[in-house]
Amino acid sequence: MTPEDLKQFVRTVPDFPAPGILFRDVTTLIGHGPSLTAAIGHLATRAQASGATMLAGMEARGFIFGAAAAAHAGIGFIPVRKPGKLPVPTIGVDYQLEYGTDRLEIDPTTITPGQHVALVDDLIATGGTALAATELLRSAGAIVTHAFFVIDLPDLAGADRLRAAGVTVDALMD
Ligand code: 5GP
Repeated sequence: MTPEDLKQFVRTVPDFPAPGILFRDVTTLIGHGPSLTAAIGHLATRAQASGATMLAGMEARGFIFGAAAAAHAGIGFIPVRKPGKLPVPTIGVDYQLEYGTDRLEIDPTTITPGQHVALVDDLIATGGTALAATELLRSAGAIVTHAFFVIDLPDLAGADRLRAAGVTVDALMD
């Protein structure tokens, strides 16, 4: 299946998580075996071509695509977690949401300084989450030059923000 073929398996849910928002739901894509296999294959191929030696995925949907793509590519996976989840000393970054702030944490010992780590998530919207993860991984010594998504919402210009931070953005679909 081509990335274009995968579009029909993304479900659009109106008014979630708030009125007026169109949520692009990947539950349907994940639940369809050939679509999941194809999405993971495309992400893994692109990640391998980027030269990444590890993938990092953001909790929670980034775990689904990131860990599977890393396994497919034969490389390791770093979970970028919500606060308070990791049982070891962490480093973290706070970042701005539309309303309020959020925080991401990693175990810095999973990264060898100078290692090429690429990001994976299901979707990029404003880019705030991916930018925060980039900053966090870089603060642990990682070289972050690529980020891979199943979906890009180009109207929200998140990919432009990531590019401005020196990260090449590649999505399977807009
Ligand atoms: P951003 O930080 O780029 O504004 O938002 C991206 C993050 O929020 C990602 O971790 C993504 O999982 C989640 N997200 C925001 N909007 C959507 C959406 O419409 N569909 C899905 N599946 N995730 C979304």
